[in-house]
Amino acid sequence: MVKKDISSRELTEKALKDIEKNSNLNAFITLCADDALKAANEADNLRAKGDTRPLLGVPIAVKDMILTKGVKTTAASKILSNYIPPYDATVVRKLKTAGAIIIGKTNMDEFAMGSSNEHSFFGPVKNPWDTKLVSGGSSGGSAVSVAARLTPFALGTDTGGSIRQPASLCGVVGIKPTYGRVSRYGVVAYASSLDQVGVFARSVEECALLTETISGKDEFDSTSVDITPVGEIKFGIKGLRIGIPKEYFTEALDPIVNSLVSEALNNLRSLGATLVPISLPHTDLALAAYYVIAPAEASSNLARYDGIRYGIREEAEDLFSLYANTREAGFGSEVKRRIIIGTYVLSSGYYDAYYKKAQQVRRLIQNDFLDVFKNSCDVIAAPVSPFPAWKLGEKVSDPLKMYLSDILTIPVNLAGLPGMSIPCGFTSDRLPVGFQLIGKPFDEKTLYQVGATYQKETNFHKELPPGVEDGF
Ligand code: GLN
Repeated sequence: MVKKDISSRELTEKALKDIEKNSNLNAFITLCADDALKAANEADNLRAKGDTRPLLGVPIAVKDMILTKGVKTTAASKILSNYIPPYDATVVRKLKTAGAIIIGKTNMDEFAMGSSNEHSFFGPVKNPWDTKLVSGGSSGGSAVSVAARLTPFALGTDTGGSIRQPASLCGVVGIKPTYGRVSRYGVVAYASSLDQVGVFARSVEECALLTETISGKDEFDSTSVDITPVGEIKFGIKGLRIGIPKEYFTEALDPIVNSLVSEALNNLRSLGATLVPISLPHTDLALAAYYVIAPAEASSNLARYDGIRYGIREEAEDLFSLYANTREAGFGSEVKRRIIIGTYVLSSGYYDAYYKKAQQVRRLIQNDFLDVFKNSCDVIAAPVSPFPAWKLGEKVSDPLKMYLSDILTIPVNLAGLPGMSIPCGFTSDRLPVGFQLIGKPFDEKTLYQVGATYQKETNFHKELPPGVEDGF
């Protein structure tokens, strides 16, 4: 946990300085220096009066997909490049209530559509382990903020892997909670039936603390669920049955990822867990179903950006041209691609063939998971990304190649389950690799238990990128 012997003011100043010093990583879009320093002073006053809440005075980075009152929130899009929200997202309100300091807004793929953080209006995020490589995405700035120890914590969003995949590529822990555990109120909507806010931190225990802080029923999000807080993390995994899905270990997996994840599994076995081979037979349909459902929802959600109510406006002679010009100038090419695909699969005549079919496939994928949890295992372990971080520019002009990086994370979103990425080793080029734990609905407790037990026995999460020191 974050050091207590240094003041919040010092921590906050240090974070702001380090963010500036590492501006080449391009992890942040907006900094909240004045508000952060003011909040830090208040936190120090409270600390002096004996307030010991764990997040009091601790700097946190927030993905620019999440609304912050009075602070520009762009979703990394030109179309929202001047948008200042009039209210805080529920997760931000909860963080502030817990005493955390919002230090700034992190870079991301535009509207969270992407896997490399190269689809940002504000330029790509660089991976601190090798700045010629991508950070992963779409929550790349948040992952990098923790990996480079600019902040000890960050918030992201995960619709198809956008927390777990950059966490794996940057060597930090990332959690996507169960759909419904965390309120989506005040989060820019991408694909509403899949979107979930989650967290990045150095350790599973820190991630658990932050997840619990932002969780809970919210009257402003009818999909949020009243859950009992997890409480103390249990250590030890003796007798736990860990399912190993054969469909996640195919030839598409980079051999180094395969061997590092297999080592992690052996480790879990030596800690007393039983590894159970399982099958999730509809896995290979997940990517196709996702790239129908997510664009369909996006095409509807993004219809609101028309130059009238939010963001930039391109003036024109008539109303239709105003809409068209604003959207033409405001959206990047990947976002346009998704809107076109989404509109197509929802159009009459194609709806049944694409959208309805994809929803049926989604149910099959969900049932695969529920079946194995009912009959075979307590939790599932698998790789996160089929390969480690790749070169900037390498996949950006080939959308299919880019989409493949999420092939092992997307099924979890389609099924609404909790997922976590945990560092489990390094390639010969010293690039981090993570493994994934997937839990039963609302069973974050078991993910924390397995993850924290693993980290007690391993040190991968304590390794630092070149030149980085851990001052938190
Ligand atoms: N890379 C996936 C996409 O582009 C997932 C993104 C996300 O989880 N936000 O849609």
